[in-house]
Formats: sequence, C-alpha cells, structure tokens
Amino acid sequence: MSIITMLGVGIISTSLLTLAGVLTLLGYRHGLTRRPFTDCRPCQGTGVKRGALFTRSFSFCTACEATGLVPRLGVRLFGIPISEHQQALRRRHRDALR
Ligand SMILES: [Zn+2]
Repeated sequence: MSIITMLGVGIISTSLLTLAGVLTLLGYRHGLTRRPFTDCRPCQGTGVKRGALFTRSFSFCTACEATGLVPRLGVRLFGIPISEHQQALRRRHRDALR
C-alpha cells in the first residue's frame, strides 16, 4: 500500500469520525430541546422529601421547587433555553403531584 493510499484512508476515516461526532452532538442537542428535564435526584422525582425516622412526615423539595423535575445536565451546560410550553408542562406536573 502506497503512502498516498494510506494518507487517503486516514483522511477519509478521520472525516467519517468527525461527521459521526457532529451528528451525535446534533442528535443530543435536539434531544435536549425536546426532553429538557430529568428526575430530581434528591427527591427521586416525587417533589417531596420524606423524613428518615418519621416516614409519613415530609417537606417539599427545594432543589426542584416540588416539581420532581430538574433541567438535564446538557441543558445547564450549554445554556439551552427551555420553551414556555415545557415550563407550563413542568408546572402542571408539579400541580398534579400535590
Ligand atoms: Zn426534587
């Protein structure tokens, strides 16, 4: 195999890897726009925190404002705006939990 052929294969494989990486990032970005929330870890998505000893006592979770939902890490890292429609659905989810 000549050096020019090896160079061509290297360029093509690097280009394909770059294209695959860009497509993966675009897909992730699109997913963050469509599904911007994930379950809140401190309350495990319930919106309330139970007492360790008296398990019937609870307080509303302050980390997620009692919605049980928090923005995903990518949304926070990339500063992706959450649409008003998604915010309204988050509030509706919170009201349904109460
Ligand atoms: Zn929470």
